[in-house]
Amino acid sequence: MEGNLPPRQLPYVNEMNEHFWSGSSDGRLRILRCAACGTWIHPYAGRCPKCRSADIAPQPVSGHAKVVGFTVNHQPWVPGVPTPYVVAIVELEEQSNIRLMTNLPRIAIEDVQVGMKVKVYFEQHGDIRLPLFEAA
Ligand SMILES: [Zn+2]
Repeated sequence: MEGNLPPRQLPYVNEMNEHFWSGSSDGRLRILRCAACGTWIHPYAGRCPKCRSADIAPQPVSGHAKVVGFTVNHQPWVPGVPTPYVVAIVELEEQSNIRLMTNLPRIAIEDVQVGMKVKVYFEQHGDIRLPLFEAA
């Protein structure tokens, strides 16, 4: 989906986060997972925080999550980015402490609620596919 997208500040992609920003060409969000104990790890860590294994690799997740917090930004921090917009924290269904900061541009601001179920979709900017969330 490219074309009439609002301007965005894009992340800096490196070998530690490439799976997250660019690894979703099949439409699935990828998060690091420990092969030894199954713990999901985000943001990047070189070892599993639970069992200390270094055997970690990106694995696809369901993309289902719930909103655990949000704020409405009215400040025009970035020229050309229309305001207001929601900045949300969503928690992936796979694990309670795996949380992403994201936007919910397909949900009307007045409809956003803590606890609402959402699912991922992607907004493509070149090689980067930003994970955004919409109502599930
Ligand atoms: Zn582990």
